[in-house]
Formats: sequence, structure tokens, C-alpha cells
Amino acid sequence: MPAVEGLMQDYELSIQHVLWRIERMHPKKEIVTKREQGYHRTTNGDMVLRINQLAGALKRLGVKPGDRVATLAWNNYRHLELYYAVPSMGAVLHTLNLRLFPQHLEFIINDAEDKVLFVDQTLVALLKPLAGKIPSIKTIILMTDGAPAPADHGLGEMLDYETLLKAENDDYAWPKLSERMAAAMCYTSGTTGNPKGVVYSHRSQFIHTMGVLQADNLGLTEKDTVLPIVPMFHANSWGLPYACGMAGCKVLFPDRFMGDAKSIVELAEQEDATILAGVPTIWINTATFLKESGKRLPKVHTVICGGSAIPRSVMEAMDGLGLRMLHAWGMTETSPLGSVARPRAGTDPKDELNARLTQGMIVPGVEIRICDAASGEELPWDGVAFGEIQVRGPWIARGYHNGYDPDKLTEDGWFRTGDVAKISPEGYIQIVDRTKDVIKSGGEWISSVELENAIMAHPKILEAAVIGLVHPKWDERPVAFAVPRPEFKGQVTQAEIVDFLRDKVAKWWLPDEVRFIDEVPKTSVGKFDKKVLRANAAPIKESAAPAGRA
Ligand code: AMP
Repeated sequence: MPAVEGLMQDYELSIQHVLWRIERMHPKKEIVTKREQGYHRTTNGDMVLRINQLAGALKRLGVKPGDRVATLAWNNYRHLELYYAVPSMGAVLHTLNLRLFPQHLEFIINDAEDKVLFVDQTLVALLKPLAGKIPSIKTIILMTDGAPAPADHGLGEMLDYETLLKAENDDYAWPKLSERMAAAMCYTSGTTGNPKGVVYSHRSQFIHTMGVLQADNLGLTEKDTVLPIVPMFHANSWGLPYACGMAGCKVLFPDRFMGDAKSIVELAEQEDATILAGVPTIWINTATFLKESGKRLPKVHTVICGGSAIPRSVMEAMDGLGLRMLHAWGMTETSPLGSVARPRAGTDPKDELNARLTQGMIVPGVEIRICDAASGEELPWDGVAFGEIQVRGPWIARGYHNGYDPDKLTEDGWFRTGDVAKISPEGYIQIVDRTKDVIKSGGEWISSVELENAIMAHPKILEAAVIGLVHPKWDERPVAFAVPRPEFKGQVTQAEIVDFLRDKVAKWWLPDEVRFIDEVPKTSVGKFDKKVLRANAAPIKESAAPAGRA
């Protein structure tokens, strides 16, 4: 029997639909961007006119469907205009990570063969080392509120964003797009080797946006005012720019003040933010600022946190300040939303915190499995067995730009995340480690993440990272690098930390050494850079009695 065809329309899923919504459904909604002085304010309605002008300007500059348009910019309204104009005209938005080393930026721009580059005035200096090394870039466009580009940037003539827009009409004839076309690309943060280009399609972005909006996921609504502190150059700012557009949220942008807790709190307070989003480091700083200043943010109902595991101490501190955290997991290759930690119906209140500290439930639309590293066999969801997370779904990468790392996809088409996790019978995912960071001691595995979180719960400790160092007898042993809180600098001892851990982790997990440092090195997206720690770590002192086994 021939299959019967469905009789639904072949409506192409694309960013143009989100653009249509902000224009027709939410034209009065505001976008507020922090500026050097005060705030810049605009509305979706006015922004749509500028998006049309921007597409006109890009066309005039020779940008064609499929061309890559790079941005080196903070979270601000101009960046949002690019988020809409570039994909909607069929070109590919390539957000550059402004915290990368120049050689990585150079590699990425050349690998993507970007044609046009938009740069915020405050970031021009980052491009200086690239002068003469990025031949695919034909035009650089400066985004400034008036200040000129630094005189000696060496990059030749730059066009001015506002001047380009003024010369265009505000009724661009948007082309018909296919949903499988590339809409945007974003490179992985390159903690191992060169960064790799993840290419999102219009279809994947559209479905991801719908996924983000679900009530059991991030659950944004038209009533929300959202402050994304997660950078627009990192994994599409967790999909928030399009999710806010689709839902009709008011949006607040911190521009270059992302790391400044005072500015963030003021913006949230003055503009009535209801949802904040950022990595744990942001919340460590925010909690400290709130405690010291006595300020509170009573209108905020959700603080989305992802990018690395939330330490229990941070969630407790934020809860104590009336800021309820929502933990989510994902990666650049998963668009990024993969799982969200909302306690299931019927969870005993005393178990709620533990449930919220897991990486949560895989979101509808994405399938997950955990597989044994050696045999590749799928492991049970018993809360004990742990293996690599593999995922598949409509917003999961099936490869990288230029075909790097084809082994990331299993033979049967699942994406290998490199994260190691166990899954409880109820479906809660608990990340144990990265495959590369898990510590193998005497043939048994130690989770560096769990140890770190246990150490960071110590009242005198601000941050801690744990790595495995070579040990002649045990293969590897854990060594902790701990940063004391400023007021306890020089006043906390290894013995104190190890004693604190004794009733929290198995005896053989106790670190052999605790080394005190001023700061944990971070990657370009603010995660602990264990590669740097490993490269600079002195070997384990064999003469000293191991702290953990003393
Ligand atoms: P990136 O592609 O730079 O966003 O990095 C993705 C990686 O960050 C994941 O593969 C995880 O290792 C880590 N990660 C993201 N979110 C979480 C989370 N909630 N808990 C633990 N690790 C996370």
C-alpha cells in the first residue's frame, strides 16, 4: 500500500517567522541596552525598520545567500539587528568569540571564510593582531555611538554602521528561504585543539526556539523581561534572542558590562527584569554584590544557569537571596539547550534542591543515551552506571564546518558529547565529568566535578578546580587548586579542606594535595581551563604524605 501523504502546508521554518512576529505581534516591546552613560532604548517596531535597512546595506556590499557575515560584538541592540537581518536575507551570521586568542580568531575567520565583519568600537583593538591575516574579509563595519575607532588599528578603512543604514530604505524584499539553509555558525570554545564550526540551519533554530519556550524548559512568556548575560557570541546566547522575539519579551542587554555585578543588578532593578541568564561565575559575583549592598531583585522569578555545573553553595546562596535558579545543560553543538532541571511532580520538598542541582531532564525533541567508553554499549538508567552522553534530535549537530572530527558522530548517527553522566530511573541526568577530566585512580573513576563542588562548599573557598596528576602507584590521583575568599587569603590550610571533605566523599577520593592559587584559569567562555592547570602543574610531591590518605 502506498503511504498516504499528510495534507499540511510545506511552511519553511525560518528566522523570517520570528522577524514577522516581532513586527506584527510585539512592535511596542522594548529593547534596552546599557551604555557608557545611561541606557539606549528602542522598540521592536523601530528595530524592524533598521533590520530592513541593514539587509539593504549588506546587499549593496555584495553579500549573497550563503555568505558568512561575522560579528565581534557584545550583547546589544545592534548585535540583535544582525541576528535578524543576516539570516533573514539568506546569509550566515557568524558570531566571533571576543575572548579568544588572536590566533584562534584568525583561524576561525579564515576557516569560515567570512566576507564582512561587524565590530563594536570597544573591540576594534582585538582585531589589530589580525591585520593582513584575514584575506576573505572584504569590508569591516564599525558599530559606534560616536567614538572613533582607535587610530592605529591597521585594518584599513572601516565603514560606519549608522551611515550605512541611513542610506537604505526600510522595506527590504526578503527572499524565500529553504529551512535547511544555514542561518548561523558558532565555533566551539577550543579547549582541545582548534575551535570547530557548528552550523545551525533555519529549521534547527526555529525548532530550538520553540523548545526553549516550553513551560518545562526555559518557559519565557510575553510578560517576561529577560536579561541575557550569556554572550551573544556563545552558542547563540542560549537561543534567548530568538526565544525572546518569538514570545514577545522585553529584552535588556548589558553590552560590555557583563562582568560587572553592580551594572547588572541596576539594569535588572530599573527595568523590572523577571528572568536572568548566565554562567555560574556571574552568579557567584552577583550573590556577593547583593549580600554586600543589601539590594534585592524581587521581580526576578527565574535565574537560568548553565555552561558548567552549579555548585550547591551558589544555588543555596542565590535561593537565600530570593533568586530561584534554573539549571540547564547544553553545548554549542546542541544549539545549545539539552536538558533542564525542574523537579518532577510529586518530588518530596526535601529532595527538591538535589533534583535542581542535577542537569535535569532531556528536553522534548532530543533523545539521550549513555554509553560505556570501552565497549560502546548502552548503559542502564539506574543512577549508578555512568558513560558518555550521546544525543540526537533536530537541533543537534551532525558534523562540523569543513568536515573536522567526523568521529563525533557514532555509526548509528548519535552525537558524542564528551560529557560523562549517569541517569536516574526518573530520567534526571547527573554529569559526572568531561571524558577528558574524569580521574582514574587505581582503576576506579573519581569525578573531578563532584570534588570541586564539595570543596567550593567550604565557607573560606571561592573557587576550586580538581585535576588528575600522574601517580606511580595509582595511575592518577586528584589534586585540588583552590582559591580562598579574599578575606581568608593565607589563612586556610590543606588539612582544613581535606577534613571538611571527609564526610562528603569516599576516602580514596580525598585529594592528595590542595594547592592554593589566586585564580582558576578560565577559558574564553568562562569555564575552568583545566588544560592550562595541567600544563603548569608541578608533579605530585611523592615525599609528602598524601593528604587524602594520611
Ligand atoms: P560550550 O559548547 O562551550 O557551551 O560547552 C559545552 C560544555 O559545557 C558541555 O559539554 C559540558 O561539559 C559543559 N556544560 C554545559 N552546561 C553544563 C551544566 N549545566 N553542568 C555541567 N556541565 C555543563
